[in-house]
Amino acid sequence: MSVMSAMSRPIRATINLAALRHNFGIARLHAGAAKLWSVVKANAYGHGLERVVHALADITDGFALIEVERAVQLRQAGLDVPILMLEGFYAPNELPLFIAHRLIPVLHRIDQVQQLLGAGWPTDLPVYLKLDSGMHRLGFDVVGLKAARTALTGKVAKPTLMTHFADADGPRGVDWQLERLAAMTAGMDDPRSLANSAALLRYPHAIGDWARPGIMLYGGSPFPKMRSAPELDLQPVMTLQSEIIAVQSLDTGESVGYGCTFTADRPMRVGVVACGYADGYPRHAPTGTPVLLDGQRSRLLGRVSMDKLCVDLTHLPQKVGVGGTATLWGRAVAGEGRDSVLPADEVATAAGTISYELFCALSSRVPVSEIH
Ligand SMILES: *Cc1c(COP(=O)(O)O)cnc(C)c1O
Repeated sequence: MSVMSAMSRPIRATINLAALRHNFGIARLHAGAAKLWSVVKANAYGHGLERVVHALADITDGFALIEVERAVQLRQAGLDVPILMLEGFYAPNELPLFIAHRLIPVLHRIDQVQQLLGAGWPTDLPVYLKLDSGMHRLGFDVVGLKAARTALTGKVAKPTLMTHFADADGPRGVDWQLERLAAMTAGMDDPRSLANSAALLRYPHAIGDWARPGIMLYGGSPFPKMRSAPELDLQPVMTLQSEIIAVQSLDTGESVGYGCTFTADRPMRVGVVACGYADGYPRHAPTGTPVLLDGQRSRLLGRVSMDKLCVDLTHLPQKVGVGGTATLWGRAVAGEGRDSVLPADEVATAAGTISYELFCALSSRVPVSEIH
């Protein structure tokens, strides 16, 4: 271990499982009587599937993901809470796995219904039917829905009707989709699964019986320009940190990094941080993207390299230098506690993306540890 840490670059990610459980509590608060699928696809949005499942297993109503191999691993590790497969199955040869491990599929095509019935689906293993209420990605239209329900009636338990919102985080909202859904499902009393994080936080009337929060569990705001994660009482789960490994003094007119995209307009002190796009930091983050240096706010300078990025030390005390901690996002363990949280949303927004992408892109070369 000491050899390993002596050999390691100073970059590290920390996953705060107490924060994860806190954020789940916020989802629970908003859900009221509705149940919660904790969405853990994509390796729990980059946070590590096993550790996230382990931390939430006793408080969630189930887990939702995409990857059947990972779902089977969870079952083999002894997990016995419901598991929902958000994209269902891709080919009928997966159905024995679904049955053996009690994985609930989301069906979105009529041929899947026929394949499922042909595979000897157990009457007590639930299924979801996905409805296209306007997003036009996956789901049945009104005719397909009726055909699917008719085919399933008497052969499997009552299906849950699920739809996904296209703009719950944006100006169109959800009501236009709820109206279409109501028209498509008139007279059907099946349970509904509607809300993602955005709808859960924003539209109490659009939750249904089972909500499917993802990003909010990890401390990302689904609509950071409207309400930030701290305003939503969401805590960062992933913290990405490295160290300043060199300090440069720039004269006026000197540039830093590839493409010479940043030029000093006065003498500057610049820190070089051991973190780059090969670690998952977004290459498109421009000069000005926020960063915490020993817990104090500063900014990125110039272009992000594969293994390094540069930051502004000019306004910070001299003691912030080589060996100083750079928090790229998450919670800095700052002495005075000022500016100790940098939501990933702020970095994502500066880089023209969303926190989801930053979390999912955390590179496998970054060592991950957890705190409880
Ligand atoms: C990923 C996903 C979610 C979770 O969305 P968030 O915006 O992360 O809350 C919910 N439902 C479906 C179908 C998904 O694919």
